[in-house]
Amino acid sequence: MQQTDTPAMDYLADGGVVSFNSRVSVPSQTRVNFVTIPTGAHADRHGIVGGSYYDEDFNLVRTDYPDPLTAQDNVLVPTIFEVLEEKGIRTAYIATKGYELVGGRGASITFGGRDDFPPYIWRHRYDDEVNGSSERSLELKLEMDEIVLAKMKEAVRDEGAEFFIANLGALDYIGHKHGVETPYYSRALGEADARIQRFIDFLKREEIYSESAIIITSDHGFTHIENPENVLMGSRRQPAVRELAGAGIKHEALSRGGLSFSLYLKDPGKAERALEILRTIEWVSKIYSEHPLEDLDGTLSDLNYYFPGRTGDFFIDVAPTHTLNFDNKGQHGSTADTDMIVPLIFSGRNIASGVRLEYSESVDIAPTVLAVYGLDNTKYLEAAGNILDGVIEFPN
Ligand SMILES: [Zn+2]
Repeated sequence: MQQTDTPAMDYLADGGVVSFNSRVSVPSQTRVNFVTIPTGAHADRHGIVGGSYYDEDFNLVRTDYPDPLTAQDNVLVPTIFEVLEEKGIRTAYIATKGYELVGGRGASITFGGRDDFPPYIWRHRYDDEVNGSSERSLELKLEMDEIVLAKMKEAVRDEGAEFFIANLGALDYIGHKHGVETPYYSRALGEADARIQRFIDFLKREEIYSESAIIITSDHGFTHIENPENVLMGSRRQPAVRELAGAGIKHEALSRGGLSFSLYLKDPGKAERALEILRTIEWVSKIYSEHPLEDLDGTLSDLNYYFPGRTGDFFIDVAPTHTLNFDNKGQHGSTADTDMIVPLIFSGRNIASGVRLEYSESVDIAPTVLAVYGLDNTKYLEAAGNILDGVIEFPN
């Protein structure tokens, strides 16, 4: 946000509550944090530890497949959609990628994924050039946000939604392919801000702005990697970690956003030997595990990421010189502040004005949203977060 002008977000922040030090859930990845936001729980409680995981019997479980609505059964805590719908408030989850909807259980309106975008745009969403043009590639991605904005208006005006979460997802595609410390990303951020402004204008035109509250945040940060060296791992290229395979340690690895991965050992008894080897790999940055080992950067519990039978033996940050599977200029998923710390803005009805928070967390959003509605979250959610201090202000 310091990279470009964001007048709409500045306007909301100035008239509301803002934190520039808000911490997301580990791993700093879309599908995990788009479950954290509506539940107020970290992955250790909501159970979505990534796009997929290996269970105790070493079967691969997809948390977003065959479709994210079916996979909602993997979420083990209540969502604010369920709570608000129960109170007679119609809700919507408006996604870009589609798999965000795994956290949308209870929402009566859902949108996002392949079927809701024109095939041509969808096909090129991860490309940095279309017909040899990066400009064209950027335009197509921004077009996705335009479609999301149209759906936001439709949900409110035509479908009776009184509460929704929407993801302006173009920033993620652009951040990955073009990097974040680039004019492309600055422009995309400016465009996202302009869409927020147009939504504010829409609410004013519909004469519901004064009754509305708006929250702006991100599901994760980003790390800019200028000349990434690519590490191939996962199902398409075996072995996942060459050095472990060379020592006869059988394992699987699952990327968590491109800059971290979960490592599952076939024989957890080899954890100590695996750790020794991992420490010799130049692109391994930080290593977390629940095994009682020396020389760890922390436990999975320290990260609120320990879910027995889902999170595996190790969670590993990749050094910001390397990337997993794709030589993208931007990646995320690590425990570094660049990936973990995001802005958080509250503005509007029942929200205080001119408050700056030193610290907040994504898990605080759901409890604070219920407080905006005058509801006590402890009765409805199993949240790890709290109502943020100084955010709520009911009129006298
Ligand atoms: Zn991403």
